[in-house]
Amino acid sequence: MNETRNKTPEGGNETGGSRPVDFIRAIIESDIKTGKHDGRVHTRFPPEPNGYLHIGHAKSICLNFGIARQYGGLCNLRFDDTNPSREDVEYVDSIREDVRWLGFSWDDREYYASDYFEQLYEFAIQLIKTGKAFVCDLTADQVREYRGTLTEPGRESPYRDRTIEENLDLFTRMSAGEFEDGSRTLRAKIDMASGNINMRDPVMYRVLRATHHRTGDRWCIYPMYDWAHGCSDSIEKITYSICTLEFEAHRPLYDWYLRELGIFPSRQIEFARLNLTYTIMSKRKLLQLVEQGKVSGWDDPLMPTISGLRRRGYTAESIRNFAATIGVAKKDNRVSIDLLDHCLREDLNKRAPRFMGVLHPLKVVIENYPENQEEELEAINNPEDSGMGTRMLPFSREIFIEREDFMEDPPRKFFRLAPGREVRLKHAYFIKCERVVKDEETGEIVELRCSYDHETKGGDAPDGRKVRGTLHWVSARQAVDATVRLYDRLFTKENPDDVEEGKMFLDLINPDAIEELAHCKVEPSLKASDPGRHFQFLRHGYFCEDADSTADALIFNRTVPLRDTWAKIKKKQG
Ligand code: ATP
Ligand code: MG
Repeated sequence: MNETRNKTPEGGNETGGSRPVDFIRAIIESDIKTGKHDGRVHTRFPPEPNGYLHIGHAKSICLNFGIARQYGGLCNLRFDDTNPSREDVEYVDSIREDVRWLGFSWDDREYYASDYFEQLYEFAIQLIKTGKAFVCDLTADQVREYRGTLTEPGRESPYRDRTIEENLDLFTRMSAGEFEDGSRTLRAKIDMASGNINMRDPVMYRVLRATHHRTGDRWCIYPMYDWAHGCSDSIEKITYSICTLEFEAHRPLYDWYLRELGIFPSRQIEFARLNLTYTIMSKRKLLQLVEQGKVSGWDDPLMPTISGLRRRGYTAESIRNFAATIGVAKKDNRVSIDLLDHCLREDLNKRAPRFMGVLHPLKVVIENYPENQEEELEAINNPEDSGMGTRMLPFSREIFIEREDFMEDPPRKFFRLAPGREVRLKHAYFIKCERVVKDEETGEIVELRCSYDHETKGGDAPDGRKVRGTLHWVSARQAVDATVRLYDRLFTKENPDDVEEGKMFLDLINPDAIEELAHCKVEPSLKASDPGRHFQFLRHGYFCEDADSTADALIFNRTVPLRDTWAKIKKKQG
């Protein structure tokens, strides 16, 4: 699945031990040895503020910030805000919050490509003066037509041989707003016959009247991505500009700009982007889900956004561990979402307190338990960590158990409650089912009548008799109501980007992705609302209290069920 593995969180070498090094770290370590840039390591994470960050960005964040941390370097947060029409401050704020939440800090190094617009303009003038850039009057369609194809060379623009003076004059007037949107561009003068289409006189600036979220109406020309990105890296003296594979063919252009300008030689290194099963990563598609109301927002717990994962209950630790486990490779692949869930379970198994919650309640009356008696039973909070202590569980004559934990006519392998059968109530007593009470009209089971053995307090019989089933339960009188949301995959297909003709990814949305259970009964220790807290409901999985939850209306999202598909697969493979 991956070329290199890196077991430590955040991709760091925190243990100081030997560990396989991925190809990016191998380049860095070799540079450090030869004293390149005096051993300085400086990376950046460059999001475009046109959407919320997703789990793919998390991989890039862990890589860039992780490398800086590991080699005693720095990582900048740079907003690549060169496309004013799609950008918004809401996105800037969410990106900041998400990077911080993942556990990384950029100190005061928060930069914006738009901060460099003036400098980029000066760089452009410099290229015009050395005869390396020209103003072109072809329309966007014509530029495309002249560009040629992968097999045919392009044709030179008829405006390519303008004099330096004319280019300077026209470019100044472009930036002064004398020309209409789309009427002229500034292009680099490279090679229309190049086998690499990116080198065929690429556009550097376009005329565009759009209000920018930071520079307002100061500019009516905006730089193209390739032009702005490399120059921004160089201005910040970034040593390693790590990006995804689709920019590989842009690297010659990246290098050309920096070389022709004679500025700091940042080095671009490409790695494979993260793809996950049952997940889409394109911000354009995620925006469609939000805009068309297919989800409740960017932070819907079904979304693969960092804010959605956080709301669903994924921890920053589990995401960092996931990123370290998948490592970095140079070939595109699709990672199983089960691996992410596995990382979450590993993390929460160690630190999530256990509680009891009944999702489909069935009332049980313990007939030989005194009517007005109440007692408290001690329960351990986490069997994996005795340091997490114990809590007291109220017990009384009426309790709720899970509807599916009782069968009137059980098959052979059903070991839970059935008429005449005895089971253990976790942390409490043995109970035995004496009678089933049904609704006379519908025949539905409404209540069980049981007896308990007070000798079995704590869950063991002094006479040594055994029971095969242990049930979770909550005391009816003290139970707290809660809404529980169970989630399934957002898409029905492993690769939702791969759709048959005439369909689109929206057709692959899983109609049963959310199941909401409005009348769950949970133990009273969960009563004080604390959105964002993580815990395990015994036998049901790991949960997180939703952002909209209040003490009067508790809402719990199931992050993942307990069954670990990934661990099972690994075990099978040996
Ligand atoms: P999208 O394709 O979702 O619109 P993008 O690449 O346009 O994403 P940017 O905001 O430009 O989004 O991305 C910021 C950084 O995150 C870039 O360096 C980009 O390469 C990286 N990145 C984006 N998606 C992934 C991914 N799936 N896996 C790893 N890195 C990613
Ligand atoms: Mg991008």
